[in-house]
Amino acid sequence: MSKSIEGGCLCGAVRYRIQGEPLVTGTCQCRSCRKASAAAIVPWSHVNAADLSFTAGKPVEYNSSPSVTRTFCGRCGTPLTYWRTEYGPAIDVTTCSLDDPDAFPPVAHVWTSHQLRWVKLADELPCFEEGPPSN
Ligand SMILES: [Zn+2]
Ligand SMILES: [Zn+2]
Repeated sequence: MSKSIEGGCLCGAVRYRIQGEPLVTGTCQCRSCRKASAAAIVPWSHVNAADLSFTAGKPVEYNSSPSVTRTFCGRCGTPLTYWRTEYGPAIDVTTCSLDDPDAFPPVAHVWTSHQLRWVKLADELPCFEEGPPSN
């Protein structure tokens, strides 16, 4: 039996469960994630879409570009997921919407070319100036 982890938005209207482990994790510093989350750095957990299920509520969808769908709680605004057509059957979940964000620590940083001048990363994780290397 694989373990599962739960998460949800700030107000609790939207809740989800992730079965098993993420495929990969990382933070994004691109302008789009920054604006969508009003945060300097946004940690993501990339999971099999089939492993993610919403257990309460339904997030609102927003296309931040033609091939990208972001979701968030329509009541409190917490960003929840990010999906682009190239992902196919996988989806990103905001790591900090997990009940235990420490469960899925980032293993890399992407879009560091968009990094704000006052952000200084102090860890040894690999950095990518643009998106993650395609796999
Ligand atoms: Zn909410
Ligand atoms: Zn991003």
